Amino acid sequence: MANSEYEYVKREFELDSLLPPSNWIVVRIDGCHFHRFSKIHTFEKPNDERALRLMNACATSMLEKFPDIVFAYGVSDEYSFVFREETEFYQRRESKILSLCVSYFTSVYVMKWKDFFPNKELKEPPYFDGRVVCYPNLKTIHDYLAWRQVDCHINNQYNTCFWSLVKSGKTEKEAQQALKGTFSKDKNELLSQQFQINYDDEPAIFRKGSCVYRDKVETMVKTDRCGNPIKRTRLVITNANVDIIGPEFWENHPYILR
Ligand code: ATP
Ligand code: ATP
Ligand code: MG
Ligand code: MG
Ligand code: MG
Ligand code: MG
Repeated sequence: MANSEYEYVKREFELDSLLPPSNWIVVRIDGCHFHRFSKIHTFEKPNDERALRLMNACATSMLEKFPDIVFAYGVSDEYSFVFREETEFYQRRESKILSLCVSYFTSVYVMKWKDFFPNKELKEPPYFDGRVVCYPNLKTIHDYLAWRQVDCHINNQYNTCFWSLVKSGKTEKEAQQALKGTFSKDKNELLSQQFQINYDDEPAIFRKGSCVYRDKVETMVKTDRCGNPIKRTRLVITNANVDIIGPEFWENHPYILR
């Protein structure tokens, strides 16, 4: 490519911000104005499961497209993507990584919309914002994921109460007022006493959010001459609605973050 006299605008002005080495990279995307978007598309409240499954399908496509994403966690209109610590994806260029994640996720969301809402026209373009944060070690990445799941719990418990009150005839303002200053225990009591809802029986996809990762799955490829199965372990992209705050999940899946 010939060098023109204008080349300096790239050479001298384009700055590539490189993310620091030996850090886990998290890209978190979040739907823009999804309060409105969910209203326009008449999402069920507090949780439209189809919309959550659409988000999960987009996250699965992300892991298929970008092998360096080792784990994803999503709730509501947000998803966090964890890149492996030593990734050299786009030489760790921040703007490349962030823009690719946001645009690919958004495109897949639009493409897959009709699979989850076959009778609902997409009335306005969904769009997402995104940010990149680096975490220097395993403890901070675990704490990051725990932070998001605690947030999921707090919001979902609140929203479950709020929408139960609204559906029972209260105005949104009255519902908000009724929940002001309540603790977690009070909300569980309200749900069980007024609405016969045991919060722990609510679907895990609502209470726990969604994880997407590559799981080790043993498959039988064939049998040997004596008829004994020959097994092979494959990594299969998996979706699970499980606790990631305690150590159990990570002890059972030590190969995900390492
Ligand atoms: P911002 O642009 O600042 O992110 P927002 O309106 O998207 O604004 P959030 O805090 O991101 O606000 O909250 C997302 C909103 O989207 C929630 O208020 C919730 O009502 C709605 N929402 C997202 N996913 C679902 C879903 N699966 N079912 C029902 N409502 C949903
Ligand atoms: P990268 O991912 O690095 O950007 P790329 O394949 O997109 O790779 P570009 O340098 O951005 O490479 O070039 C864009 C390419 O897309 C061109 O090579 C051209 O062949 C094709 N292209 C883009 N727009 C058009 C168009 N309107 N008509 C025909 N070809 C197009
Ligand atoms: Mg490190
Ligand atoms: Mg949002
Ligand atoms: Mg959000
Ligand atoms: Mg191009």
